[in-house]
Amino acid sequence: MDWKIKVKDIIANKKMKLEGFYEKEYMDFHTGTYRVIDRKFHVKISLVYTDGTIIVGGFVKGKIERPCDRCLKLSILELNGTIEGIYDLKNEPNFKDSEIEDLKNVIYYKGDIIDLEERIIEALVVSAPDVFLCKEDCKGLCPFCGENLNDHPDHTCPGKEEFEKGQVDTRFRKLIDLKDELENNN
Ligand SMILES: [Zn+2]
Ligand SMILES: [Zn+2]
Repeated sequence: MDWKIKVKDIIANKKMKLEGFYEKEYMDFHTGTYRVIDRKFHVKISLVYTDGTIIVGGFVKGKIERPCDRCLKLSILELNGTIEGIYDLKNEPNFKDSEIEDLKNVIYYKGDIIDLEERIIEALVVSAPDVFLCKEDCKGLCPFCGENLNDHPDHTCPGKEEFEKGQVDTRFRKLIDLKDELENNN
């Protein structure tokens, strides 16, 4: 679906409703780039032209695959974004009021085509949390060996004791084991 809409079509119709898919394989967020589940987001947008402005409203829904911030496991994050914006076709920006206008989402616009993709991306980015957990009580990783404690809730770490004695940095335990194994094989 093409999300570029001609301004003159909106003015002629006064009201337009659009529904479709915003297709994307990967999507950039401020925390990283993630795979989009089913390669699409569901979008519904209404456009209303009144008195020299175009008012845009709607939603975008979909799912992305994002690593848990605690255990790093890839998990599904559902996104529900609110699309909103006002395209002011007749006024120039008044920088004295710019703070208020930021809040109102006003875009001063003189072009022929409105690219709704920008509004869709904005809504998705704003809807994504800074911190994402695979589940509320995610137990994270063992700080000594990196074992996923959700999968192994009874994990008693062999590296913990050595770590506490300060004999070896157990983050390297796996490397040491590997080295021992290689040497034994020779
Ligand atoms: Zn997790
Ligand atoms: Zn451990």
